[in-house]
Amino acid sequence: MIYQGRARHPVREVIVHCSATRPSWFHDRPLADKVAEIRRWHVQDRGWRDIGYHWIIDRDGAVMAGRSETEIGAHVAGHNAGTIGVSLIGGHGSGVRDAFADNFTPAQDAALRRLIEAIKGRVGGSMALSGHNQYAPKACPGFTVGTWYAGGAA
Ligand SMILES: [Zn+2]
Repeated sequence: MIYQGRARHPVREVIVHCSATRPSWFHDRPLADKVAEIRRWHVQDRGWRDIGYHWIIDRDGAVMAGRSETEIGAHVAGHNAGTIGVSLIGGHGSGVRDAFADNFTPAQDAALRRLIEAIKGRVGGSMALSGHNQYAPKACPGFTVGTWYAGGAA
């Protein structure tokens, strides 16, 4: 079981995001550099204490940790406690009705499914899965998470 913060909120949901960057963004740079840049946006530009997401998935399917799962993230206003934020690199100009494959790679599809299953194992019991666009009038992550997940592996 994963608990977050001093109040020990049990994790019950994964919320998917995207970085809203173009496919060419930091194209020749390792994921660590992309995570460092997103952390800079969140810490320097927004004044948060750390990157808002718990996990970041690169175009090639590489996965890197952001904020610790035991800390409350900063990724959906009003829904940060008890949720884990996962962000896919890419998604610039995407829409809620786009298919996953319109903006993200097959490697990201596989990596996101693996990560969701791994988190489910750590959470124990039932875990909800949603997209940022279910909580805010935004395209993020640029597809409908429930429809994508139900569709199974590509
Ligand atoms: Zn988002």
